[in-house]
Amino acid sequence: MTGWSLPGRGRPACLPSGPLLFRPMAQQPDDRVICVIGAGYVGLVTAAGLAELGREVRVVEIDPERRAAVAAGRSPIHEPGLDGLLEAVVASGRLRAVETMGEGVGGAGIVIVAVGTPPTPDGEADLSQVRQAVDHALAEVASGAVIAIKSTVPPGTTRALARGSSRQDVAFVMFPEFLREGSALEDLRHPSRVVVGGEDAAAVSRVAALLGGPDTTRLLCDSVSAELIKYGSNAFLATKISFINEMAQLCELTGADIERVSDGMGLDPRIGRSFLSAGLGWGGSCFPKDVRALETSAGYHGQSFWLLKAAIEVNSQQRRRFTAKLVQGLGGSLEGRRVAILGLAFKPFTDDMRQAPAAEVIRQLEDLGAEIVATDPVAIDRARLLLPRTRLVADPYEALTGADAVGIVTEWPEYRDLDWGRALGLMKGRLVVDGRNCLDGEAIAGHGGVYVSMGRRPRGPGAALPGTAAEAGAGAVPSLPLG
Ligand code: NAD
Repeated sequence: MTGWSLPGRGRPACLPSGPLLFRPMAQQPDDRVICVIGAGYVGLVTAAGLAELGREVRVVEIDPERRAAVAAGRSPIHEPGLDGLLEAVVASGRLRAVETMGEGVGGAGIVIVAVGTPPTPDGEADLSQVRQAVDHALAEVASGAVIAIKSTVPPGTTRALARGSSRQDVAFVMFPEFLREGSALEDLRHPSRVVVGGEDAAAVSRVAALLGGPDTTRLLCDSVSAELIKYGSNAFLATKISFINEMAQLCELTGADIERVSDGMGLDPRIGRSFLSAGLGWGGSCFPKDVRALETSAGYHGQSFWLLKAAIEVNSQQRRRFTAKLVQGLGGSLEGRRVAILGLAFKPFTDDMRQAPAAEVIRQLEDLGAEIVATDPVAIDRARLLLPRTRLVADPYEALTGADAVGIVTEWPEYRDLDWGRALGLMKGRLVVDGRNCLDGEAIAGHGGVYVSMGRRPRGPGAALPGTAAEAGAGAVPSLPLG
């Protein structure tokens, strides 16, 4: 890929750990001063992590509420460890939230663009936030600074930004982000790899020195390859999940157990067990939009990326399969039935509801006549905006009270550790549909529950359950009028 890939470059020298006085705008770019544009999941974590490493960090954020929260040392998003770190780096003066681009980029050696790239209705990445942030930064940034694109952008974007730039004295690099929400700070402190791509080797090296330690693998390459490393990583992981979900369907048809199949496959070091968990499929702010954007980008280059088209279809089918299990388990109709939904965030340890399977599944269930009472440890406020018809409660036992059935949508440990004897006692019905295969089915059956999961045989009383065609002698999933 490149003749100048540098594995294991050292950690940059740190600034003193005590309070810093912010100096007036420096004219020369200084790599100890970093500007991060966008205080979202990526920008804020990156900014806090760089400040922890001793850089002087300014965060430019257009949303006044987010900016005020950061300025006060409070995180506007839920991310483990971020509140404490933010409070410390803001108090020490190493991180400052600013409103204007001039305050942010003045004197900064490196400007990290971490604004959103949401999907357009056609599935492309909407680059308007990136273009606007770059244009504003270029108007103020010091000569010799580097603009590092951390937002996920389609192949060719960084090169196009550089070519179209009004400032040939400012270099552009692609600096893809691989953090996982829920463990973002740990991922930043111990990155699996640091990838930087660009056409200016010195600029690439400067940005590569920002994160990681002496043992971190750094992959330096051209900007288009860096863009495709990011998309390819997400698309591959999403495809792996869709593959195992197809296998789960076959398990139901043949009477096999997907958990054993995943365990056995995962023992092969070439495959690995991660991302082989059958369930409701992938969601969140990245996989759905990035898979579609990659598929769309391929289309613009004349390629039909069939594997990704199939991965997307399988993923949406998983939601319908889950809904169908609730319908079947409740005798074929949800009209007037109450269903408790445990988990709203797209995965545990985050409050992110973007493209969360819960939103899709709840809308399907409500369209079929069910009354939904849903809960989540941290995502209720965000869910309120998306699910106006849904009753949202903080206490899972309250959600379960009087429910005809319960669906597990997010595998929060809290739900695995519920007192399921008590939970079933509070419910009107006995049906537990586990969309994440995270509960102990035998234990639930032991408490008198009817346990149905994804790709495994049902447990508990009641023969006419959705599940293995081999046992039930029926087709796996009926066709439902679901989008
Ligand atoms: P986000 O929506 O949470 O944050 C973006 C922030 O940028 C918002 O607070 C917004 O107000 C701000 N913003 C937009 N335009 C601005 C401007 N001109 N000036 C200042 N602030 C501006 O998004 P995110 O989840 O942090 O994702 C950012 C990018 O990183 C996306 O391209 C995403 O695909 C990519 N990414 C996200 C993750 C993740 O887990 N969230 C992981 C890897 C990569």
